[in-house]
Amino acid sequence: MSNLLEEAKMLSDVIVKNRRYIHENAETHNNLPITTTYVSEKLIGMGYAPVEICQSGIVALAGGKKPGKTFLLRADMDALPIVEENELKFKSITQNMHACGHDMHTSMLLGAAQLLKNHEDEIEGTVKLMFQPAEETLWGANAMIEAGVLDNPKVDAAMMIHVASGIPVPTGTIAIPEAGVVSPAADWFEIKIAGKGGHGAMPNMAVDPINVLAHIHTALQEINSREIAPGENVALTIGQIRAGNTSNVIPDTGFMSGTIRTYSNDVREFIKNRLTEIATGIASSFRATAEVVYTKGCPCLTSDEDLTKQIFKYSKELFGEDRVIDMSKLTGGKKMSGSEDFAFISELVPTVMVSLGAGSIDEGYLFPLHHPKASFNENALSTGAAMYANTAIEWLKNNK
Ligand SMILES: [Zn+2]
Ligand SMILES: [Zn+2]
Repeated sequence: MSNLLEEAKMLSDVIVKNRRYIHENAETHNNLPITTTYVSEKLIGMGYAPVEICQSGIVALAGGKKPGKTFLLRADMDALPIVEENELKFKSITQNMHACGHDMHTSMLLGAAQLLKNHEDEIEGTVKLMFQPAEETLWGANAMIEAGVLDNPKVDAAMMIHVASGIPVPTGTIAIPEAGVVSPAADWFEIKIAGKGGHGAMPNMAVDPINVLAHIHTALQEINSREIAPGENVALTIGQIRAGNTSNVIPDTGFMSGTIRTYSNDVREFIKNRLTEIATGIASSFRATAEVVYTKGCPCLTSDEDLTKQIFKYSKELFGEDRVIDMSKLTGGKKMSGSEDFAFISELVPTVMVSLGAGSIDEGYLFPLHHPKASFNENALSTGAAMYANTAIEWLKNNK
């Protein structure tokens, strides 16, 4: 299969054209009518029979002519509600922007779909292509699991690629994380305080929810500093506090909300429990009540050890030793702090998340993901397409 990279390069013009169309028509969440119509048409044109299994979630199968296992390849398709600030011929014409590079992922997986079709007779099992909506809102992967993306045929292992820009390594570099937890669980909370409103000059007649919010805000910081082991990585951020309308009135109620990122299930559960105990305890000591609404976002993303080893090997064989690096070289040894909803898949089957360099600082790509000026080097596209197709074909061949 060493000619897969050359084949992918020959498809470059098509992959770039697809990427630009998707970029120009950026859509968000699970409302992707233009994108999914385009993807389905392209798949049908290659001879696939794509199925929309949930809103804006598309699955297509390659191979299946020889017996074997099933390998899933995932690309997300949603953009962000950001107005693009790049001047491009294919600048987004919607109020949304592919600032996270999901247009790159979608076109790379379409490229891989063509490569897999070209080699369909050689595939020893089945490759399942998963075109996912709503990654940014952490909705899509779970919705597709509930719609059966991992069944019929049952998925045995899976891989996703995420591009990176504004980074120190050249375009086309493949970074693979060590096995284990790669990115954190993401959860949200809201705390609603019910006090008793009154005149600002008669605080003794009221129960002041602003005072309660202030004490809770301070106390929540102690979870991180006093109750979690120093070596653990945790982010607990309160992003919103609201109460009152004017200076001389004590309001009835107050509100705060925040997000929590954790790298282990134990710490995740612990913080959830302590957050609730501290908020309700402080509220009751000040004669108010607190209602805590806790929303689970997505779990930790984990990489499987055996699959990681195999993907390192296949990638080095196809791209050469120097193009494939350990992810810690990109992150300076730290874990990634952004969450990724592919985590839901990683809870159920062995997975690996691969990072693909698509614009280094030296090459003039200065902005990070999610920035209105984020941009991506399209030379990465053929590498991504070859990476997807090669990983699936090689894994199926070696894990019969
Ligand atoms: Zn993103
Ligand atoms: Zn993303």
